[in-house]
Amino acid sequence: MAVTQLFRLVVCRAPARAAVRVQRRYSKVSPIVSEHLRVFEALREKHINRARVEASEKPLTIHLDDGQTVRGKAGVTTPLSVAQSVRVKGALVSKVNGELWELGQPLQADCELKLLGFDTVEGRQVLTFFFFIQSLMRLLGVAFPGGKEKEEWEREQEEARRRDHRRIGNDQELFFFNDVSPGSCFFLPKGAHIYNTLTDFIKSEYRRRGFTEVVTPTLYSTALWERSGHWEHYSENMFTVTSEGSQTYALKPMNCPAHCLMFEQRVRSWRELPIRWADFGALHRNELSGALGGLTRVRRFCQDDAHIFCTPEQLEQEIVACLDFVRCVYEVFGFSFHCLLSTRPTPTYRLFYTLLTVHVCVCVCVCVLACVCEQHQCATIQLDFQLPIRFDLQYVGKDGHLHRPVMIHRAVLGSLERMFAILAENFGGKWPLWLSPAQVMVIPVVGSSESYAKQVVQRFREAGFMADFNDDQGATLNKKIRSAQITQYNYIFVVGEKESETGTVNVRSRGGKQLGRRPIEEVMASLIQLRDSRSNTDEF
Ligand SMILES: [Zn+2]
Repeated sequence: MAVTQLFRLVVCRAPARAAVRVQRRYSKVSPIVSEHLRVFEALREKHINRARVEASEKPLTIHLDDGQTVRGKAGVTTPLSVAQSVRVKGALVSKVNGELWELGQPLQADCELKLLGFDTVEGRQVLTFFFFIQSLMRLLGVAFPGGKEKEEWEREQEEARRRDHRRIGNDQELFFFNDVSPGSCFFLPKGAHIYNTLTDFIKSEYRRRGFTEVVTPTLYSTALWERSGHWEHYSENMFTVTSEGSQTYALKPMNCPAHCLMFEQRVRSWRELPIRWADFGALHRNELSGALGGLTRVRRFCQDDAHIFCTPEQLEQEIVACLDFVRCVYEVFGFSFHCLLSTRPTPTYRLFYTLLTVHVCVCVCVCVLACVCEQHQCATIQLDFQLPIRFDLQYVGKDGHLHRPVMIHRAVLGSLERMFAILAENFGGKWPLWLSPAQVMVIPVVGSSESYAKQVVQRFREAGFMADFNDDQGATLNKKIRSAQITQYNYIFVVGEKESETGTVNVRSRGGKQLGRRPIEEVMASLIQLRDSRSNTDEF
């Protein structure tokens, strides 16, 4: 199919660095594994020392595959030190005279050395192996090529801890979880503000891009799930409810079957296509409680989910439009993304993607690359030829005959909960003005300027800003400013008598930059401009 040729297969390389820097740490490993590791480490040390003595640091000549020659010492020089000396970045493993060789293992004799990065098959295999080990043992340990890398890794770990969305959520009072409903988030007012702002952003794009919103039920009889095929393959991930005696219902884990019902509700004509239905309905998936973690793995979530029903001829333009949608939204967040093209569905999706002889099924997954070198799969664009068959969906074509539509499952943000977490960590809790739940803090200098401060707050609230007022009599001006900065207010307005007389505010940005005394109208216009353009800068 032509569509498949539109996309280049790109593999994300970001996790490579994180995955390969493995330091052997024993503290969190089971005692048995830990003991094995200790013995292994001791033997390895012994071996290296013996090799070092045997080699007695005799000079080595190392030939690199790009034609360079590097001098080294037997038993001392490692492929890693060679990589560093010739400034090769991203090496994951090496080959010495054609044999795979650990980067940190000293070379013993003259040799031909090939440094393999993620762009090579061997490099990727090593990476895949590390991922496999990680998923198997929940990060057993990490090996570092050198002290500098270890320090860098520790810095990154500290940064990751600081940016952890659960910590930010707690510090800024955005959300929390409670054991009475595991995996379902309680969004507090500030968190709900961010959540709704994200939704509003997508809704404004829907209007521009010809999507219409629908609202659908949450509970459906198992008869629907049997028809869609979910019951057979996915029922263990679904929550069921029994009512009216023996009737069993299930909470929807996805919106697709409901949208199919809407499509078949009356006869459809080719003139109506493409139909683009969007649904922010709450979804439930029964994740194991052990797998739950903050907002990235939840049981209750919403997606900016949509289904496009179109003719096969419209497919290409619809997919291009979906990709443009993703690009436009991710640009606002400052994310780069890679497309992964999958024509062979994973077992989870096999339900929908049983390959037909005539149709090739395509699933385009778009991944976000967040700043802390983690990769998340968020946006998805998936073609589905199967569900329209299961639901026997048809439309009357130009020729007057019945035809089968193609269905595209598509989400730009993906799960709003997970996107919330990614954004929190990406911005490190410093929300840009347009998303920020704490936009303006007004601080009066003396008691007499309080009523003016209240007026300023009211004006900004009327313009739709999250504006607050600090009238704590016990705190000094500096303390109030400091506290507003810690709470991550984007702007702090200090107002005294002079400001009150001249209709101005004294503006400071979150970073402590003094923007000086400005007329309210001017500040208001600048903030509206920053907010409405969804700018990520603080300056105006
Ligand atoms: Zn779907």
